[in-house]
Amino acid sequence: MQNKKKKLFLKGFKNRDASIIFFSVAASFLFVALITSAATTISTNVSTGGTLTVTGAATLNGNVTLGDAAADVVLSTGGFQASSTALVGGNATFYNTVGSKVHVVELMDRLLPTMDRELGKRLEVVLKKQGVDIRTSTKVGSVRSSGDKVEALLQDSKIESEVALICVGRRPNTSGLGLEGLGVLMEKGRIVVNEFLETNVKGIFAIGDCIGGPMLAHAASYEGMIACDNIAGTKKGVDYNLIPSCIFTEPEIAVCGLCEDEAKKAYPGSKAVKFPYMASSKAQVITRPDGFIKMVGDASGRLLGIEIMGHNACDLIGEASLAIAMKANIEDMAAAVHAHPTLSEIFGDASHLFLGKAIHTI
Ligand SMILES: Cc1cc2nc3c(=O)[nH]c(=O)nc-3n(C[C@H](O)[C@H](O)[C@H](O)COP(=O)(O)OP(=O)(O)OC[C@H]3O[C@@H](n4cnc5c(N)ncnc54)[C@H](O)[C@@H]3O)c2cc1C
Repeated sequence: MQNKKKKLFLKGFKNRDASIIFFSVAASFLFVALITSAATTISTNVSTGGTLTVTGAATLNGNVTLGDAAADVVLSTGGFQASSTALVGGNATFYNTVGSKVHVVELMDRLLPTMDRELGKRLEVVLKKQGVDIRTSTKVGSVRSSGDKVEALLQDSKIESEVALICVGRRPNTSGLGLEGLGVLMEKGRIVVNEFLETNVKGIFAIGDCIGGPMLAHAASYEGMIACDNIAGTKKGVDYNLIPSCIFTEPEIAVCGLCEDEAKKAYPGSKAVKFPYMASSKAQVITRPDGFIKMVGDASGRLLGIEIMGHNACDLIGEASLAIAMKANIEDMAAAVHAHPTLSEIFGDASHLFLGKAIHTI
């Protein structure tokens, strides 16, 4: 079955009339049959197609000095079991749920600093309720061993725990590829591409974590499909508004398109409405009434973005991506009928609210 699928894909690929050298694409399932080898295969001799660079990202330690505690420090790709955890720069609730005492240290003034302010603030309240110790506007200087514990040294205090988990981000993994030698434009380690995912050197394309932007598996797959089509001769641009960002906390958080603040800056006259999970019958039935959907639209009623914080948010956000991809108006969203009782009814409710015709809230 697997082989049949592979053959079908290769056939489809051949029809695209492109010859492409891939050097490793772990996240993008579409390409696994085509992995060739390493950086030495890159050349500018790409007259029949293009070269696609997909080397992913590497872990960062965020300038935290690890000192002699390195053995008790886990970077973002690691897993562990510990009774207490100092989490540097993250929002993970998993370790709290499985019984570890979690301390979260975040440099910025709120959790989820790149998302709508309200989401970070609400998450902080929820996590504190769950017993997580949150320290915002706080920098970890270093982490050192202290007996059988590790100590994370903050500006004016310290946190003692069994393990320190550093998850301050990822950086493009591009060193040693020799791209600079080919004249490929790089910026702080990331490969610079245009909206068609092509570098400044004709025929060399790049996708995924190595170009920066949203470092997400579905973003890499989306970019991979667009780059292939472009190598095959079409001219398709990427639209990052379609890429959902999901945070797998409890409750989940998912956003797609512009958040309220971004929309108000970019489109004066735009507005946002918020419909609470509490008013959803399904959320009540399954005893998950905490959360909300926020719908953002411009003055003409065009849908600009959706944010959801609540049960199953990461599954629900697909409807937002579809609507934004189809350039839907909020009138269109309101016209769709959702089965009752389901959580997806919140899309209808939020759009009715936006249009001033709410039926489940006052
Ligand atoms: C702990 C963790 C959890 C994550 N969870 C999620 C999640 O829940 N949802 C989500 O959407 N994203 C998640 N991500 C991000 C996601 O994994 C990445 O965005 C995605 O894998 C990027 O795909 P990519 O193809 O660009 O790179 P990768 O998947 O990293 O693939 C790059 C490959 O290239 C290989 N390679 C590197 N250099 C060379 C070379 N010179 N020659 C040959 N091969 C080379 C690497 O070994 C690797 O196999 C997570 C990441 C981490 C670290």
